[in-house]
Amino acid sequence: MSVENVPTPEDAEEPEENDPVFPETDSSAIPLRYIPGIDIDSDDELVNVPAWSGLNVSGNADELEALRCIVCKTMPFTTLYQCQHEHTICAGCYQMRVLDKMLGAQLGTCPQCGVRIYRHEPYRNLAGEHTLAQLMVACEDCGVHLQRGLLRKHGLEDCPRRLVACKYRRIGCNWKGMLGEAVSAHEEGCGYHGKQGLQLLGELQQRQEQRDAKQCLLGKIMKLLQLPHITVRLLQLLPQVEGFPRNNFKTCAMFEAFSQRWSVQLKWQTPTDVEVPADQANCPCSLLFQLCLESPDGCRGPLGLTYTLVSGTHSDVRFQPNLCEKCDFTRENVLGPLTPLYHNSWQSCAKLLNERGFFGRLLMARI
Ligand SMILES: [Zn+2]
Ligand SMILES: [Zn+2]
Ligand SMILES: [Zn+2]
Ligand SMILES: [Zn+2]
Repeated sequence: MSVENVPTPEDAEEPEENDPVFPETDSSAIPLRYIPGIDIDSDDELVNVPAWSGLNVSGNADELEALRCIVCKTMPFTTLYQCQHEHTICAGCYQMRVLDKMLGAQLGTCPQCGVRIYRHEPYRNLAGEHTLAQLMVACEDCGVHLQRGLLRKHGLEDCPRRLVACKYRRIGCNWKGMLGEAVSAHEEGCGYHGKQGLQLLGELQQRQEQRDAKQCLLGKIMKLLQLPHITVRLLQLLPQVEGFPRNNFKTCAMFEAFSQRWSVQLKWQTPTDVEVPADQANCPCSLLFQLCLESPDGCRGPLGLTYTLVSGTHSDVRFQPNLCEKCDFTRENVLGPLTPLYHNSWQSCAKLLNERGFFGRLLMARI
């Protein structure tokens, strides 16, 4: 197995201001594969994870600003690394911009000042971690005041206004709602409450088929990992402060692999592919990606690839298992298939793209 050099930090920079123009895609022809509940065994945590913003800054503002990650500009919730000049780097960016860089022939350096950072000497900012964990903040959902270090646990386990699933989810109900009366009201009237065994058989059969399909897909991904010519690319989609365009492709990473230049493009899509009114925060939404060959002129014959995009280290979200089994990239065919990556409400997708960003790893193999 030959793992090529990882890209330089420039490869993962934020998309440039002048986005290239991409071929028009007839989105009405793309079936939106929104399958509620497909990920029944791994509920996405994002909905109940507090946003980065909303800090009730009670300390010295300048001091706190210095604890913002220099790469993704978030106020980290976990480990804080720094260079010898005290430039803060969050755990995810440290993994990607420092550690992963060293997988190739490159040196680990501070993304801001370029000073060397050594793998065997991680330089934590323990005082900074402590300061951030002790900050008093308010839960955006229920308003309770608590230490910032406890916010995540609160959102996932204790918040009285967190989202929970219907107790009949195992047998097919996809309803989700805020903990409390709405849940009991729903569960009493839930269509799955009074279903007979025979009626449920069909539902369970369907669930089993979904599981089998997922299992089969995972088996294929395992096979991809065994192929001789495989390479991995690290992607970092930073929060898009200006807002991520809906139903429009955006180039999120440029890199080189197999002697060609490539880009990963993302778009999010709602079932009707229209603007989502502000009051439809729960409108189902999909995040899709597409691999694009950026250097078709350098492509002599068809370049057959199989690839999958998985969530990266320190990623808060879990991607849906996805696999492009075979795509022949040529001068004429520069786009891979449109592949769903993440399904959630429009609100959660927006939160992911506009407030948090994410890390992903693209595994590609020649076939
Ligand atoms: Zn960061
Ligand atoms: Zn530095
Ligand atoms: Zn709360
Ligand atoms: Zn239900």
